[in-house]
Amino acid sequence: SRHDKDKDKGVNVQVLLRCRPFSEDELKSNAPQVISCYEHRREVTVCQNIATKQIDRTFTFDKVFGPTSQQKDLYDQAVIPIVHEVLDGFNCTIFAYGQTGTGKTYTMEGSGRKAKNGELPPDAGVIPRAVQQIFDTLESQHAEYSVKVTFLELYNEEITDLLAPEEFSKVMDDKQRKPLALMEDGKGGVLVRGLEEEIVTSANEIYSLLDRGSAKRRTAETLLNKQSSRSHSIFSITIHIKEATPEGEELIKCGKLNLVDLAGSENISRSGARDSRAREAGEINKSLLTLGRVITALVEHLAHIPYRDSKLTRLLRDSLGGKTKTCIIATVSPSVHCLEETLSTLDYAHRAK
Ligand code: ADP
Ligand code: MG
Repeated sequence: SRHDKDKDKGVNVQVLLRCRPFSEDELKSNAPQVISCYEHRREVTVCQNIATKQIDRTFTFDKVFGPTSQQKDLYDQAVIPIVHEVLDGFNCTIFAYGQTGTGKTYTMEGSGRKAKNGELPPDAGVIPRAVQQIFDTLESQHAEYSVKVTFLELYNEEITDLLAPEEFSKVMDDKQRKPLALMEDGKGGVLVRGLEEEIVTSANEIYSLLDRGSAKRRTAETLLNKQSSRSHSIFSITIHIKEATPEGEELIKCGKLNLVDLAGSENISRSGARDSRAREAGEINKSLLTLGRVITALVEHLAHIPYRDSKLTRLLRDSLGGKTKTCIIATVSPSVHCLEETLSTLDYAHRAK
């Protein structure tokens, strides 16, 4: 399979395409559909001329999820194997990339996380499902383990801790809000000084942290009068598992899973850079564009991988490339109104393959 071939080449970047269903507004405005998904062929076609129905372009991905695909379908087909790797002691990263409003947050978080009789609601996204798979596996293994979670936001190349204790966020207004500093840890990775690391012992504890962090992300947005579309969020789960080898030696496996909800990709389009928010767009550009370059460099086996060029790629350096697995979920709308952005998302995602 392609997967095995990639393994031989040492490339572990998977690119998936997900097209959301029409929104109510799009339905109301009778927006023509310009994107068609062919899941079995793993293809997406773009048809700009509704009258002739002529296909203008076809894109192939590692997997394609059409408008009727469910959260569970995407998780079972694309994420389960990645979580297995993490539990085997590897670092992996999953990105949601796409225009604002195309389903990045829906895909990563979804709605509803609390499990009822061990079952997550159908709308639960990648994060709660991964958390459940991780704890289900750990609890059935009878090995000693520990699980740590961090949740941060990157906005204008500044890091904010989404899990910082309440009393801090209450007394800090926008000006007092100090961005956290990023430092090299001397082992090829980086440290975020002062970042809260929550040790968790159950899936439900993580769901509460996720709720707390997401609520804080929304509050901060209102305070700063900005849109979530311009910040990246990174939810990371680190797992240590203590195992005994057949020889009776002790072995500690450590794996990390990063779940990244990227800033809206319209921020790197030309229109974004032209308006009055140009500088801000520039900073957002930096992380999104550098991520694109890092992934291209990895896929093309270039000698120099430009990790250092943005905070996002510095933060994720130990989880991109080498033995790690990377999965990019590109999200698009089926509507003609989003066509220009959709084409740029398809191009960006396709370049990563
Ligand atoms: P983004 O984070 O990319 O800006 P959202 O995740 O907020 O976009 O999605 C925008 C809207 O579309 C939300 O109301 C969300 O619930 C809905 N939505 C997105 N993707 C899907 C999907 N695959 N199925 C059903 N609803 C979706
Ligand atoms: Mg979002």
